Amino acid sequence: MTNEAKRNWKPATQMVHSGTVRTAFGETSEALFLTQGFVYETAGAAERRFKDEEPGFIYSRYANPTVDMFEKRMCALEGAEDARATASGMAAVAAALLCSVQAGDHVVAARALFGSCRWIIEKLMPKYGVETTLIDGTKNEEWEKAVRPNTKLFFFESPTNPTLEVIDIAAVARIANSIGARVVVDNVFATPLHQKPLELGAHVVVYSATKHIDGQGRCLGGVILSDKQWINEQLQDYFRHTGPSLSPFNAWTLLKGLETLPLRVRQQTENASRISDFLAEHPSIERVIYPGRKDHPQAELISRQMKGGSTLICFDVKGGKEGAFKFADALEIVKISNNLGDAKSLITHPGTTTHKNLTEEARVAIGINGGTLRISVGLEDADDLIADIERALA
Ligand SMILES: *Cc1c(COP(=O)(O)O)cnc(C)c1O
Repeated sequence: MTNEAKRNWKPATQMVHSGTVRTAFGETSEALFLTQGFVYETAGAAERRFKDEEPGFIYSRYANPTVDMFEKRMCALEGAEDARATASGMAAVAAALLCSVQAGDHVVAARALFGSCRWIIEKLMPKYGVETTLIDGTKNEEWEKAVRPNTKLFFFESPTNPTLEVIDIAAVARIANSIGARVVVDNVFATPLHQKPLELGAHVVVYSATKHIDGQGRCLGGVILSDKQWINEQLQDYFRHTGPSLSPFNAWTLLKGLETLPLRVRQQTENASRISDFLAEHPSIERVIYPGRKDHPQAELISRQMKGGSTLICFDVKGGKEGAFKFADALEIVKISNNLGDAKSLITHPGTTTHKNLTEEARVAIGINGGTLRISVGLEDADDLIADIERALA
């Protein structure tokens, strides 16, 4: 099979087959190489491998056959030239951001960020002499206005956590390209099936594989995808020498997760769409934000930029924090947890958990109110989920 033919496979086929390398035993399932190192036939062979004159593995902090299969499968899905898998989503975000800048550079980021991502931008980067500006990323003109002569990097998530605002990736990438800055997109909420930032002009895509890619609550993982040149020139040495590498066991788990990713995301999105319609009609609900509903404030952009809706819904229960807590506590099937993308439906109160470190003012600025809840819709039967929600609201 040529590479060209493989590129023509649909995602469901890619996710079962792409990247697989079989040993001489011809195993059906991907082999799990639980090994730290590799042995060489001769001292000369070791020398040649270290000199990069001969292909092969050296040490699992650098690369490992099982991790390699996961990276190749992710490249096929994303349409990226190259990838590096990491031990967690945050290891991926940190590496992608830190390898894009140096002291004296300036970064512009959307303020609606996953808490730890915001910490890297607001707290870590300034410590090493990188200036940062947080903006309302949904307004294209704010990106333009924030640009300085030393701006080297734009960073954002879309849809955002937890209020599911959408950022115009193509428009932001055009602004970045006009000044020679790089665009890093955290694509976790969209999933690689529903949004393709590289096709829209972004340079680097990062994932927490902990979320939909595992999707079954088992392990942490992350991945950075970009062009070969950036990975070789900017990321490679950082990656080898600081050691954020993914464990082979987790890579194997994630490979198995990828096999069912298209099925799961499709079903979870369908369930979420039905639940968002139910919530929108319910008198105890003040606001529903769901990318996929026509009343999403950015429905037009979503239809241009995304291939599907979301597995997450953001909504406000009447009665503020007290109302939200009472509702969450009354749920039976839906579990209270800050994770997302799981087979199990999970609900979180962002104001007191994932976004508790923000000031009240900063929370309100990104649309988090007392009654705001975020639900990650799972694989349970949608009828059962709606019945659970209806009973808890009553
Ligand atoms: C969960 C998450 C991360 C961090 O991923 P971990 O695997 O938990 O380290 C980063 N960005 C977004 C948008 C996330 O949802």
